[in-house]
Amino acid sequence: MSDDIPFDKSFTLVPDTAAEVAPQVRAIVADNPGPFTFKGTMSYIIGRGKVAIVDPGPDDDAHIAALLDAVRGETVTHIFVTHTHRDHSPAVPKVKAATGAKVYAQGPHRLARPLHIGETHRLDASADMDFRPDVALADGEVVRGDGFTIEAIATPGHTANHMSFAFKEGDLIFAGDHVMGWSTTIVAPPDGAMSDYMDSLHKLARRSEPLYLSGHGMPIKQAPRFVQHLIGHRQAREASILHRLRKGAADIPTIVRAVYIGLDPRLTGAAALSVLAHLEDMVARGEIATEGPPSISGTYRLADAPLPG
Ligand SMILES: [Zn+2]
Repeated sequence: MSDDIPFDKSFTLVPDTAAEVAPQVRAIVADNPGPFTFKGTMSYIIGRGKVAIVDPGPDDDAHIAALLDAVRGETVTHIFVTHTHRDHSPAVPKVKAATGAKVYAQGPHRLARPLHIGETHRLDASADMDFRPDVALADGEVVRGDGFTIEAIATPGHTANHMSFAFKEGDLIFAGDHVMGWSTTIVAPPDGAMSDYMDSLHKLARRSEPLYLSGHGMPIKQAPRFVQHLIGHRQAREASILHRLRKGAADIPTIVRAVYIGLDPRLTGAAALSVLAHLEDMVARGEIATEGPPSISGTYRLADAPLPG
């Protein structure tokens, strides 16, 4: 179902080496490639002289050294953090200590909803629970630096505290993991929520910035059109879940097998959580039903289907 999205799997950056990816923006990719991070996490430097850093990255000394090296002779005045996954924010304390910059983000890590009774937090290891911003940003808030103006855009969904940042002078958006050119975004409860994610996509679709720089992968051109593809992709996935449930009640592994064709086996767990995210949203809207709160081990049926047994 993902053939419809014009993904860009190219990548030309060298780990821990700064390269200009847009006017007034340099990127440095961390050397943490993987099935969820593509070629690695992207850190960005905005401006020249007095600069801002977006997403210092993982707590990786080589990456932190490369980042500090790239801004040698410059002053880092702001650090912006898109969200608190361990590949984006754990370098903050060291970069802050080395530069004295203030840290701006939506807030500490938090779940999109409370845990259900008996539910474990499967994504615990991926979250940076220690992160605290110096300045908590609200949606729409504007931060001015020397030569750059940043507008905070709350884009929850991948995480509850996910923020994108519009760089006004560059007419571009730092989209974090909310919009990525190489892959769809993981939306996994309880960290993430599909209804938030879809609202956040629609929010970006109403904006005009043509270029996005994201947490992983190369810059995304014709970004508003790409966002429309992402919206269409999720709507199609929802339709295929409904299509499967029309044949009868099913558990999540069954739904994953039916709707994900040719899935990388390393991503089966993520796919299950993504389906759970859709199911939560569809249960909340009354389209499908399950016993108790939607859970990873539940069985799902169309809301108007008779109870099994
Ligand atoms: Zn993330």
